[in-house]
Order: sequence, then C-alpha cells, then structure tokens
Amino acid sequence: MKKFRSIFWHRRDLRIEDNIGLFEASKNSKNLIGVYVLDPNLLNLNRTTSEAKNWFLAESLLELQKNWERRGSRLLILNGDPIKLISKLADLIKAECIYWNENIEPYEINRDRLIIEKLSKEKINIHTFLDQLIINPSDIKTNNDEPYKVYGPFYRKWIEIIKNSQISKNNLIQISRTPENIRGLNERELSSIKNSDLNYCISRESDSINDLLTSNRFNNSNLCPCKPGESESINQLNLFINSGGINSYNQARDIPSLDSTSNLSAALSLGTISCRAVWNGAQISKNMAHNEYQLNSIDTWIKELAWREFYQNALINFPGLEKGPYREKWLKFPWQNKSDWFNAWENGLTGIPIIDAAMRQLKNSGWMHNRCRMIVASFLVKDLLIDWRWGELFFMKSLVDGDLASNNGGWQWSASSGMDPKPMRIFNPYRQASKFDENGNYIRKWIPELTHVSTPNLLSGEIISAERKGYPNPIINHKNQTSIFKELYSSIN
Ligand SMILES: Cc1cc2nc3c(=O)[nH]c(=O)nc-3n(C[C@H](O)[C@H](O)[C@H](O)COP(=O)(O)OP(=O)(O)OC[C@H]3O[C@@H](n4cnc5c(N)ncnc54)[C@H](O)[C@@H]3O)c2cc1C
Repeated sequence: MKKFRSIFWHRRDLRIEDNIGLFEASKNSKNLIGVYVLDPNLLNLNRTTSEAKNWFLAESLLELQKNWERRGSRLLILNGDPIKLISKLADLIKAECIYWNENIEPYEINRDRLIIEKLSKEKINIHTFLDQLIINPSDIKTNNDEPYKVYGPFYRKWIEIIKNSQISKNNLIQISRTPENIRGLNERELSSIKNSDLNYCISRESDSINDLLTSNRFNNSNLCPCKPGESESINQLNLFINSGGINSYNQARDIPSLDSTSNLSAALSLGTISCRAVWNGAQISKNMAHNEYQLNSIDTWIKELAWREFYQNALINFPGLEKGPYREKWLKFPWQNKSDWFNAWENGLTGIPIIDAAMRQLKNSGWMHNRCRMIVASFLVKDLLIDWRWGELFFMKSLVDGDLASNNGGWQWSASSGMDPKPMRIFNPYRQASKFDENGNYIRKWIPELTHVSTPNLLSGEIISAERKGYPNPIINHKNQTSIFKELYSSIN
C-alpha cells in the first residue's frame, strides 16, 4: 500500500524508465520527489570529471527535471555536500523513506555509508537497490567462491547467469515501468524548500546548472558523439540497431574513421539508459538477424557490455585498483615521466600522426574511439615510459564518458599492470595506423595541416620537412623506446 512520503535520490541513473530504485519508490510512496545533488567531490575538473562530462550531466538533468514535472512531481537539484543536504531535505519535507540505487566507486560507497549512519539515527528508512549492472556482483563468483580476475571465464559465467535466471524470459530482461503519474508535494511545501537554505535550483537559469553549462566552456558539443538525456540515449540505441550498426560491428568497430559503434558509453556511465534496455536491444537484434555474421557481430557487442560489467566487478572486489596497479611489482617500475613528452602527448603534438589524431579527437570532441584509446595508452606507457596513472587522470579530465571502473580497467589493461597481464603487448603506432586507418581518413580529419600528405607517408610518419606545415617531427623513435621499456620491465621482475 502507498503510505509513505519519500525521496528518490538520483545518482548514476539519470532516467525515469527502467530505474529499479525509482520504480520501487513509486510503488510504495504516497508522495514522492526526486533529488540530485551536485557533489563537489564528483565535479572536480582537476580530478574526477571533465568539461564534456559536466555538459552531458547538466543537459541530462534538465531533461530529467522535465520528465519529473510531466509526471506530476519535481526533481530538486541541490548543490553541496550530500551528507548534509539529503538529511536536511528529509527533515524539511518530513520524508519517511529515502530510496536510491547503489554505486560501486570507493568514494561513493564510503559517502553512502556515512549518509546511512546519519539517516538511520534520524529514523529515516533507507531502501537501496542494484541497478547499474545486469548481474549482482555477489552472484558472479568462481567455483572457489572468489571474484573473477580474468575476463574470459567472467564473461561465460555472466552470460550463463543471465540466461538461466528469473530476470530474463526468452533472453529479454524484464523492464521496470515507472508509473505515468507521481504525486509530489504541494506548492506550499515546495516553496518552503525554495525559501530554505538548501541552494535549490530548478531551471536552466539556476546558478548551479548554469555554472555546469557555462563555466565549463565545453563548446564542442556538436562534435561529441554521445548525446545527453534519456530520450537521446534511447534514440542512439535505436539508431545503432535500426541502421544495422550492431549487425556489422565485427567488421567496423575497429575503424576509427567510421561512426560504427553505439556511442552509448556516457549514457551507460551516467545512467541515461539502463544496462537492461541495452541488453534487450541486442537480443531483439539477434531475433532479427539474417545470418551468422550478423549474429556474431551482435555477440561481439554484448561482449563489450560484459567488459563494462567486468571492470565494475573488479573495482568492487579490489577497490585498491583506484589507487594503483593490481600487480604490485609495477610500483617499482622506474617511470621516466618526462613532462615535455607528456605535454606533447596530451596536446596531440608527438609527431606520430595516429597518436596526435586520437588525442586531438579527445581534446575537441570529449570522446575517443576505443581502438585509439588502446593505441595512445600503449604509447604513453611503453614508448614514452610515463606512469599510466598520468594518462588515466588526463582521460578522466577530458572524456565525456570518464568512468573510474572502465577507465582504470582500460589503463591497467594497456599498461599490463592489471589482472590480465601481457607485459609485452606493445602497440606499434605505425602498424596500427596502417591496419585500422589504411586510407588515412581519421588522421586527416583530426590533423587538418596534414591533409595534403600522401597516405603511405601519413601512415609511416615519414613526412618531409616541406610538407610538415608546422607539424612536429616525431619526439621519439618507437623501436628504441620499446627496447628501453623491455629492459626496464626486466629490472622489476
Ligand atoms: C585506456 C582506455 C580508457 C577507457 N576509458 C573509458 C571510460 O572512462 N569510460 C568508458 O565508458 N569506457 C572507457 N573505455 C572503454 C571503451 O573505449 C569505451 O567504452 C568505448 O570506446 C565507448 O564507445 P561506444 O559507446 O561507442 O562503445 P561500443 O563499442 O558501442 O560498446 C558498447 C558499450 O560497451 C562498453 N564498453 C565497450 N568497450 C569497453 C571496454 N573496453 N571496457 C569497458 N566497457 C566497454 C561501454 O559502456 C560502451 O558504451 C576505455 C578504454 C581504454 C583502452
């Protein structure tokens, strides 16, 4: 029976549909309002977020507010320390229950523990749910009841659990439908919040939202392939399926000049779409596939969704990953950390075209193709001999989809310091360019000063001075650097 007055706290679930916590809250609450807290610890442009991600967040919140209003209630956006604000809000509106979906990052787990302590003392009922992963991490264990450390066996178990569990019927996972009408608070109660010191913002004009949208100066949203908001995320999924992108994923996903991947990473990270909706999209595509090739492509895409869950599981089970390498011997690696090389890398001025094209894509659009993320990460670590954590941080400060678990996982994979190590996995940037950008289209797009250079020269990086037009000479020799890397690596074994 609906008898409680409740708050639903949005965090990494910026959507109304298929939101497990919100669905449960709406089932049990007589009055329900939503809240989002702009937590300064998660909005630190020097550490935890990027201008592009703040833009994605702000636009998604504005849409979410409209969606709450359309259903008859409100989403309040508060600015400050959630530990204080959530309990203050609960007190102000005399909320009896607070609902939220759990997060998996160490900072958030710790913060939530403090909030739970505080709210429990205030006799407020707290209801939390697992929403951001298809399978609860506590259900994915090896036969020895240990967490998986290797992706392959993890993936097989993950698929087996989904297929055999109650959550799915014909491989489709049940979706939670949030009711069309949510009864919120009356005008008097809302104005009491407005008149309080809760720093409450409601519109695009509000200071906090405005700060996110303007002070971050992310001007290139038109170049960013990830589109904010719940409705755009669903459109992106539908486009990927209906345009056949998912059916040709196997062939096209590694070609950075093509728009051939789903672009759903920011949506999945901030929760403007649910992981279940995305899984179902893949299953529906499988039902419509015409041949083995298409089925294989869809399976490859599903494996990428599983990589996301693998890294989130890794962070939950091994929170120390946030601070450093999984393999401790890497703490002894004698990084050379030359800051002028790092500056050249981050600014796309290394003189190695595929590296610079990728870094300029990141700088300009807030996003980088997965193949290029692997190439530039390998280059930073194994050619420039710079600590991968520098690169990890730079990615968090630049990516629209920056996500601690996936970013850390990607960097530790590239550095070979993670769970699944292959230290001699070294990418040759010239070979990578020849294989995945054979016509030089990607390089030419992001390094316009090199458009006139012949494709073989672009790919080999052998560009004569007269054709460089200010483009730098390579800052290193790949062969020399990787042999230094190998020597240094043998010193820590
Ligand atoms: C060094 C490095 C850093 C990375 N940092 C991030 C990050 O901060 N945030 C992030 O979401 N992804 C990160 N990735 C993974 C991957 O590059 C992006 O998820 C992908 O490029 C996003 O494009 P898409 O949405 O079109 O992906 P698609 O190819 O369409 O894949 C579908 C979804 O699967 C997930 N996914 C795909 N590949 C991976 C992967 N290798 N690891 C984890 N999840 C994956 C994403 O949620 C993605 O949206 C990183 C990879 C590397 C090598």
